[in-house]
Amino acid sequence: MTQDRPKESCGVFGIFGHPQAAELAYLGLFALQHRGQESAGIVTADGRRLYSHCDAGLVADVFHDHSVFAALHGTTAVGHVRYSTTGSSSALNIQPLVVTTKDGTLAVAHNGNLTNAQELHRQLSAEGAIFQTSSDTELTVHLVARSHQKSLTARIRDALEQVTGAYSLLFLSPDRLIGARDPHGFRPLVIGKKGEAVMVASETCAFDLTGASYVRDIEPGEILEIDANGQHSVRFGESKLSQCIFELIYFARPDSCIWGEPVYRSRRRFGERLAQEAPVPADMVMAVPDSSNTAAVGYAHASGIRFDIGLIRNHYIGRTFINPSQFMRAFNTRIKYNTVADVLEGQRVVLVEDSIVRGTTLKKLVGLLRHAGVREIHVRVSSPPIRHPCFYGMDFPTRKELIAAWNSEEEIRRFLQVDSLHYLSLDGLLQCAPGNSRDFCTACFSGNYPVPIPPNEGRALAEETGESWAQMELERLLGGLT
Ligand code: 5GP
Ligand code: MG
Repeated sequence: MTQDRPKESCGVFGIFGHPQAAELAYLGLFALQHRGQESAGIVTADGRRLYSHCDAGLVADVFHDHSVFAALHGTTAVGHVRYSTTGSSSALNIQPLVVTTKDGTLAVAHNGNLTNAQELHRQLSAEGAIFQTSSDTELTVHLVARSHQKSLTARIRDALEQVTGAYSLLFLSPDRLIGARDPHGFRPLVIGKKGEAVMVASETCAFDLTGASYVRDIEPGEILEIDANGQHSVRFGESKLSQCIFELIYFARPDSCIWGEPVYRSRRRFGERLAQEAPVPADMVMAVPDSSNTAAVGYAHASGIRFDIGLIRNHYIGRTFINPSQFMRAFNTRIKYNTVADVLEGQRVVLVEDSIVRGTTLKKLVGLLRHAGVREIHVRVSSPPIRHPCFYGMDFPTRKELIAAWNSEEEIRRFLQVDSLHYLSLDGLLQCAPGNSRDFCTACFSGNYPVPIPPNEGRALAEETGESWAQMELERLLGGLT
């Protein structure tokens, strides 16, 4: 795989049977904006053909001109918000992807990451296939188009039996909406209802906004077809649950229900457990806003130490403030976070963070907090050390970037220049997660990959060394932390 492979850790939304399908998809995407800020798109269907509007940017920007809704005909729609990683921002990778096959037009929206994409790409290219995108999503539609099965659902099933990895997928043909989840159920996909209309979304928060009620999850290894005759399910693959634990830790919104429970509840328990595992005398508990807020509330509650707000996050930066000039880069930290000096001065602070990936965020924040006059900083991380990259859609691309892959807790503490540092244990995390602890993918912490990773990625992993981490860190520091 190339460095610039798109990691489709995104949000998807679908609706069948509503006169305002496009508008509701627009609202649904607003609720899912946290799952991807690089591009947004909606494709609708009116029984005869598909209509599409997609572009780079936030949902509000892409649909800034409301007259586009007049051209999004029909009562069925799929929408997508795309998450970006470096180098993969090609306009061609914007979704939903619309293709024309021998059986008509088809749109697809994907959240996840296929693990045999390179192999399939090689096979299909050798047989003469032409690809327009560098996205693994296009592979699935190639496989659908090549299938000789009679119905669209059977062709999709045929295709999905040939791909491995993580996918929550929505397909739209002129007269039907089809949702599918991989047999491991890595990524969430939920069904909702609004009157007679059926919705499918990455997270339940999209239903709250659109006035729909949650019905159930699409099961791992289920293909759900929705058309004028109603709903019809087909099962495929051998279902072996490996739900992404990182959805609970960081990715999903705290007001969503994921893996059978409100995310807020799990996240708060992580903080409470962290306070039990790693107590420390302090004057206040604070979060790195916003993703750590809930865990910090849990830590404060269990420790009895007051929760306070020592950092304010600016929400209006968008994706434009990336790689500006050398002069501007010096302001990177301050533009995203500012300290509330009045709260922080002279305090012994427990700083709760949901995760440490490269260590950059905390490194920058510690400097800011010291500048604001804090006396002690005790970092508490509400997840275990991330030591292994994710091949199923989370943005932990290479091991060389992961600080905990190469440094002990004590080394990280010294690197951050904090008074103490503790991570939540993996056992603690799993005990606080809803349902059965065997039903989660914990590969980023444990290295146990439930679906084999691509062989060349495995080789690349084995070749990485801690020296490359140190080199990258140095470059980041010299380059003005991004
Ligand atoms: P670091 O700065 O250590 O590289 O990343 C950790 C920070 O990024 C934490 O504040 C965490 O909330 C956030 N984070 C964790 N995972 C992801 C991710 O997949 N994408 C983005 N954009 N941020 C993440
Ligand atoms: Mg964060």
